[in-house]
Amino acid sequence: MNNFNRKTELVEQYDYAIIGGGLSALLLVLEILKNPDTANKKIILFESSFNNYAPRTWCFWEKNRITWDFLARHKWQQASIHYQQAEVDASLYPYSYKMIEADEFRKYAFSVIKDSTNIELKEATVLKVDGDAILNIHTKEKIFTAKYVFDSRFNLQLLNNYKGNILYQQFKGNFLKAEKPVFDDTSIRLMDFRMDQTNAVAFCYVLPVNRYTALIEYTLFTSAVADWKQLDQGLNQYLTDFFGNIQFETISAERGIIPMTDYRFNSGHPGIIPIGTAGGCSKASSGYTFHFAEKHAKAIVADLLQHKTPQPYYELIPAKFHFYDRVLLNILKKYPEKGASVFYRLFERNRTEDVLDFLNNESTLRQDIKIFTTLPVPLFLRAALKEIFRF
Ligand SMILES: Cc1cc2nc3c(=O)[nH]c(=O)nc-3n(C[C@H](O)[C@H](O)[C@H](O)COP(=O)(O)OP(=O)(O)OC[C@H]3O[C@@H](n4cnc5c(N)ncnc54)[C@H](O)[C@@H]3O)c2cc1C
Repeated sequence: MNNFNRKTELVEQYDYAIIGGGLSALLLVLEILKNPDTANKKIILFESSFNNYAPRTWCFWEKNRITWDFLARHKWQQASIHYQQAEVDASLYPYSYKMIEADEFRKYAFSVIKDSTNIELKEATVLKVDGDAILNIHTKEKIFTAKYVFDSRFNLQLLNNYKGNILYQQFKGNFLKAEKPVFDDTSIRLMDFRMDQTNAVAFCYVLPVNRYTALIEYTLFTSAVADWKQLDQGLNQYLTDFFGNIQFETISAERGIIPMTDYRFNSGHPGIIPIGTAGGCSKASSGYTFHFAEKHAKAIVADLLQHKTPQPYYELIPAKFHFYDRVLLNILKKYPEKGASVFYRLFERNRTEDVLDFLNNESTLRQDIKIFTTLPVPLFLRAALKEIFRF
């Protein structure tokens, strides 16, 4: 046996390798399995631990679409935004705001995967990926090979030395059960800015799933990751200020840090496609990810079906939305104290449908222009000029 044969005996070969068994990986697998020409490929999905996922809920808004409704724990068509003494009460129609429990989503995705004979689930931590036309996926136990690797491993440190715009969306939330029916489960508080805005954009949101129970989260858009105690204090203060006389039982808790950045996530190898947050699918100016990870999954499969190399997500974002995100990030970073009024004006002075189209990267230029004229024009012009001359 020559050296080459001895080496290949150590490897297992696949068409597609997917690293991670979280949101973006499972959205991609579901999309791959919908299409016979991709579903018949040999696929392996690596996850460090299938039994140790952090608690998480995913929210997003959709128009004229019921794709995920069967999994939604709740959906709403009414929302309020609060700033100082003012309040906007908005119908979200034709959009709905939906909440999916990550556990339910995974249960569904793995039930679909179980019916496929072409996907192997592998509980293993991927140590590195290298190679050329054929990629090697290294685990402690073995090396696997694949033509394409879809990689959702994310390390926040990657952005430590990034010189462009970066903020961290840091949040802590609890599912709280009240002693009496205090919530209106037909309406959410999408952004409640009635709190200190000095060093970071800060807001809470309240998502009631019934009259007793709601997910209440305290969120910062911050330049430096804060101590988690600060987040706990923010959440407790909000409960005291707005639900002071109510006793709550904490049912579950979640927390996270999502990058809000104009960094162009790319692996440097065309066959290794970063996905999910690691692929830049967390929207730079909002942190929402679900909708964009789903768009990326669809685009990847469309490319595979046409025998094209799938593109990194940033290539799919129309240039104007890159630019808007950069301008908004620039403002939120330099003038955090102005963030609340910018978001409030966005909803106060525009049709909610236009705002939600805009935040989903789906608005027309006409809608965009209308929206920008309602925002503080000198502030946006200054930030836009800075961004134009930054590169
Ligand atoms: C608490 C929380 C709430 C959120 N809520 C929302 C929301 O409401 N709406 C929204 O749009 N976005 C939300 N997000 C942002 C985003 O949607 C989620 O973070 C989402 O899970 C990102 O998907 P992902 O596939 O990039 O990463 P993940 O879902 O985190 O999946 C990555 C997976 O890769 C595995 N992995 C990592 N390294 C390795 C390795 N070396 N080898 C093998 N496996 C590995 C991990 O175990 C993990 O399961 C939230 C984020 C958090 C943290």
